[in-house]
Amino acid sequence: MEKHILSKSTFLRGLQCVKSLYLYKNFIQTRDMVSAEQQAIFNRGNNVGVLAQKLFPGGTDATPAKRSNNIAAVENTRKLIESGVEVIYEAAFQYEQVLAILDILVKKGDKWYAYEVKSSTKISSTYLLDASLQYWVISNSGVSLEDISLITINNQYVRNGDVNLKDLFSIKSVKKEALSNQKMVEEKILLSKAVIHDGVLPDIRIGEHCFSPYNCDFMGTCWKNVPQNSVFDITGVKKAEQFNLYNSGIKTISDIPEKNDLDKNANIHIQAFKNKSVTIDKKAISSFLLNVEYPLFFMDFETFMPAVPIYDKTKPYQHIPFQYSLHYKKDKDAKLSHFEFLAEQGFDPRRAFIENLLKVTENAGTILVYDVLMERNVLNGLKNDFPEYASAIDLRIKRMVDLAKPFQERSYYHPDMKNSFSMKSLLPALVPELSYSGLKISSGSIAMIAYENLQKETDMFKILEIREYLLEYCKLDTLAMVKVFEVLEKST
Ligand code: SF4
Repeated sequence: MEKHILSKSTFLRGLQCVKSLYLYKNFIQTRDMVSAEQQAIFNRGNNVGVLAQKLFPGGTDATPAKRSNNIAAVENTRKLIESGVEVIYEAAFQYEQVLAILDILVKKGDKWYAYEVKSSTKISSTYLLDASLQYWVISNSGVSLEDISLITINNQYVRNGDVNLKDLFSIKSVKKEALSNQKMVEEKILLSKAVIHDGVLPDIRIGEHCFSPYNCDFMGTCWKNVPQNSVFDITGVKKAEQFNLYNSGIKTISDIPEKNDLDKNANIHIQAFKNKSVTIDKKAISSFLLNVEYPLFFMDFETFMPAVPIYDKTKPYQHIPFQYSLHYKKDKDAKLSHFEFLAEQGFDPRRAFIENLLKVTENAGTILVYDVLMERNVLNGLKNDFPEYASAIDLRIKRMVDLAKPFQERSYYHPDMKNSFSMKSLLPALVPELSYSGLKISSGSIAMIAYENLQKETDMFKILEIREYLLEYCKLDTLAMVKVFEVLEKST
C-alpha cells in the first residue's frame, strides 16, 4: 500500500484554502510558530474520545505500536474486520491514498455503523465535511456503512453521582448530509491532489477564508506585505468590511477617508489614531466614579470548564471557579493590600472558594471587576450550588461595578487600544510599565488549562511551580485594574 497523500486534516485544510494545503505539503517549514496559548490547547489531554468508547464496550483498538504507522493501522483494521471483531476503536481505512481514522466502528448483525466523537456541544459544518470524507473513504474501502453518526456532548447534562454516558453524549446520524456531500468530496479530493502534484503555488489572495473555519497558520507568509496599522487593526469591524477597504486600495487606517461606511466606534478609533489623541470625557468619567465608594476591592476570578463534569450538580463546560485575586484599598491614600485564593488540586474547589471570598469581602465598599459578566455568572451559579450563602453572594453582586464600562463607552479612549477593551489591550496603552509578557501563564485560557493539568500532576515540584505561575498571573490581573482605575481617577 502506498503512503497516503491526504488525511482528514489535510483535506479540510485544502477546503479552507488550496494555497495553505500546497504550503503545508511543500513548505511546512514556513508555517507560523505556535503561540504559547495554542500549544497549551494542543497539549491538553482530551479524554472525551476514550470515554465515548465506553458507549460501545469491549472493542479492540486498531492503533499500531508505532502510532504514526498508518499503513499498519489500516492493516490492523482489515485483520480485525476479517476475524469477526464487532467493535473497533481508531479504525483506519485508506482509499486512493486518502486516509481516514474513525473513532468507533460497530457491527450490529451484518451491518456496520460508524461513530466520530467530537468534544464540542454542537455539530459544525466542518464536522459534517469531516464525516462526509470518512464516509467516502470507508465505503469505498469495501465496508458498506448502514449509518454514520457524530457523538457530541449534551450541554444540558447535569452530573449526579457516576457519569451517565448515555445522558452525557448525544448521538446524531449525519448519513443524509454525508451522502449529499459525496460528489463534492470526490471533486475536492481530485483538486487537492492536483494542487499538491502541480508544483505551482496557487495564486490565492488573502481574504476572509484566512480566518474560517480556523485561523490559517501561514499568515506569516501570505500577510507579510500587509502594512503596519492596517485596516485589519481596527478591532470590532467585520472582516468583510476590512477586506472591502483593503481590496479597494485603502490599506492603512491613515488611508481611510473622513466619509466612510464604518460605524461610530470604528470612527472614534480612526480619528484618535489619525490625530494621535486621547479622548477623555471628564463628565462621563466623573459620573462613573460617583458609583464607586471606598474601600475598594479589585477582584478577578479564574475558572476552568471541564468538558465532562467532574463534580455533582455541574454541567459540561460549566465555569468552575478555582482562584481569585483581590487587591484592597481602604481609602485613596491607603497602602494597597492583596488577598488571594487558589484551590488545592484534586478537590471540588467551589465551597472553599466562596467561603474564602465571602470572608475577605465582608466590609462595605465597591467591588470593581473588569467586564462583569463572567464574575456575575460564576457568583449566580454558586448561589444555586450553596443556597445557604445566596443572600451573602447577592450582597456582593450588588456591590460590583464594571471597570470596563468607561472604556467600552469610549469615555476614555487611547488610540493604542485599537478599538479593543480587553485588559491586554488597555495595559500597554494606559500602564505600559505593567506587562503580561514574560509571565509563564499569560492568559485566562492558559490558566484554565494549567489548573486542569494540575489535577493529574503528581510531581510536587511541578505542582508548586504551576501554582506559583497561576498566583502570579491572577495577581497581575487585579494589580492592572488598580493602575487602570488610578488613570481614570487622575483624568478628572
Ligand atoms: S494565509 Fe490565507 S491565503 Fe495564505 S494560505 Fe492561509 S488561508 Fe490561504
